[in-house]
Amino acid sequence: MSNNTYDAIIVGAGHNGLVAAIHLASKGWKVAVVEGADEPGGSVKTREVTLPGFRHDLFATNLSLFAGSPFFAAYKDKLIAHGLGLVTAEDCFASAFADDTWLGVSKDAAVTAKRIAQVSPRDAERWRAMLAEFASDAPHLFALLGVPMPSWAAARVVWNMSRAKGISWIGDLLRLLLSSPREFLDAQFESEKLKAMMAVWGMHLDFAPDVAGGALFPYLESMADQSFGMAFGRGGADTIISAMVACLKGVGGELLLGRAVETIEQADGRASSVRLAGGERLTAKRAVIANLDPRLVFGKLVAKDERRAAFDAKVARFRSGPGTMMIHLALSGLPDWKAGAELQRFAYVHLAPGYQVMSTAYADAMSGLLPREPVLVVGQPTAIDPSRAPTGKHVLWVQVRVLPSSIRGDAAGTIAARHWDEAKEPYADRVVALIERYAPGLSDKVLGRAVMSPLDLERENPNLIGGDSLSGSHHLDQNFLFRPVFGWSRYATPVKGLYMVGASTWPGGGLNAGSGFMLAKMLAGAP
Ligand SMILES: Cc1cc2nc3c(=O)[nH]c(=O)nc-3n(C[C@H](O)[C@H](O)[C@H](O)COP(=O)(O)OP(=O)(O)OC[C@H]3O[C@@H](n4cnc5c(N)ncnc54)[C@H](O)[C@@H]3O)c2cc1C
Repeated sequence: MSNNTYDAIIVGAGHNGLVAAIHLASKGWKVAVVEGADEPGGSVKTREVTLPGFRHDLFATNLSLFAGSPFFAAYKDKLIAHGLGLVTAEDCFASAFADDTWLGVSKDAAVTAKRIAQVSPRDAERWRAMLAEFASDAPHLFALLGVPMPSWAAARVVWNMSRAKGISWIGDLLRLLLSSPREFLDAQFESEKLKAMMAVWGMHLDFAPDVAGGALFPYLESMADQSFGMAFGRGGADTIISAMVACLKGVGGELLLGRAVETIEQADGRASSVRLAGGERLTAKRAVIANLDPRLVFGKLVAKDERRAAFDAKVARFRSGPGTMMIHLALSGLPDWKAGAELQRFAYVHLAPGYQVMSTAYADAMSGLLPREPVLVVGQPTAIDPSRAPTGKHVLWVQVRVLPSSIRGDAAGTIAARHWDEAKEPYADRVVALIERYAPGLSDKVLGRAVMSPLDLERENPNLIGGDSLSGSHHLDQNFLFRPVFGWSRYATPVKGLYMVGASTWPGGGLNAGSGFMLAKMLAGAP
């Protein structure tokens, strides 16, 4: 093979692209990962964006999906040998409420149950029962999330489920998959605080309390965190990226940075090469794998073809979820939570005190309005891993879920700007003021601040169209068999030899390493 000829070229060094490359290279394929940015990782990057010595996870921070993934199970030893370090949060997530109380999940189930019993003894019993059910259900659920959709493997998982758990359990699972967070949680619990504490996980995707299909993630994340704790990167989330890059190089793979792919070319009816900005061409003998939103692949990189018109039309209709904003703070001390000093120990403090706040913020964002009261994920990485800041100092990772990609107005009527470059600082002020309501004195502790609007997120990673952190809405019409397009959910595309992986494909966004590993296994013919 000449220097510019590979078995597989992977476009995009997000974690899914690296996963696919590592597995293929391990099976003897000659692979190159071509990345437009100057650093790998896509939505996983750690940088000193405020002050020297303060390491901020620019985007993703919670590595639990990665730590629980089949890819991690298969490559754990190699990744650890290449420097991957994880820390587990014992105090996982909590919600603070307007009446200066809080409720949260710690890895010690008895501690959590005791807290829940204070708001509802009945719910504490139900929580324990749900956890016991999860222990026996989880292997089946995670097996389903780890197989291509559709596939004989998926059919086998369902068959095994029905044999192990019975048909009525499958019925319950289907109901769970179709239910909204509110429908599921109202049927399980009576405490509005407990329900809010779980429902907010739907908002990490684009599931407001009344959106069908949104029950699964609040259930899974709550039960998984309760069972295993939450995983974070030692020193930063980018530990998984640096370890994967080292692992890739160790098995002979190449990584080309700062080399955006401009065209995916075809010869004899199949994807044959990629042309980079600057004109260089790399040839792919067996596969081009685009770790990108399908709108980028078929809207920009692949030439139009009338014979593909129906597929292209469906791709063009692939929908982004709402935008998100990141606010990174360097602090002299952790927030003094009014609800209780214990909150300083938690990895995440959610400010999403009830269904009403979440539903309104979502409706505002979808209507183009800046929410009056945003839903906030306040991450306290240095409570779990003090190495990310100078001794005694802290970083705060504030994610604002959910925001309009383009601004038509302000639900509070105080921000006049309609462009994110002008609106982001005033909106960040609103966010900090909201945190102050729960943690007075926060502003006095701020040593540095960096704000990333939805537009900034897309500038950093073109795969985040409109600042959608998950590269495509996860509503039922775009999930499972429908991700990204019905009939094309198994990573192949109408262009022979061209495949798509990444957050826009099954099993969706998040650091699940799923699509990259599943496709690589299919291509390499390994079990
Ligand atoms: C703010 C934020 C917070 C998040 N928090 C979490 C979290 O805590 N936990 C979690 O599990 N998930 C989280 N997510 C989601 C998760 O980070 C993503 O779903 C995941 O990283 C997607 O990985 P990927 O490999 O599919 O694609 P990406 O990471 O999007 O990678 C795509 C890559 O392709 C590159 N690219 C684009 N166009 C080209 C081109 N033409 N040529 C070459 N390269 C190109 C991009 O630069 C990028 O590097 C978060 C996401 C965001 C944005």
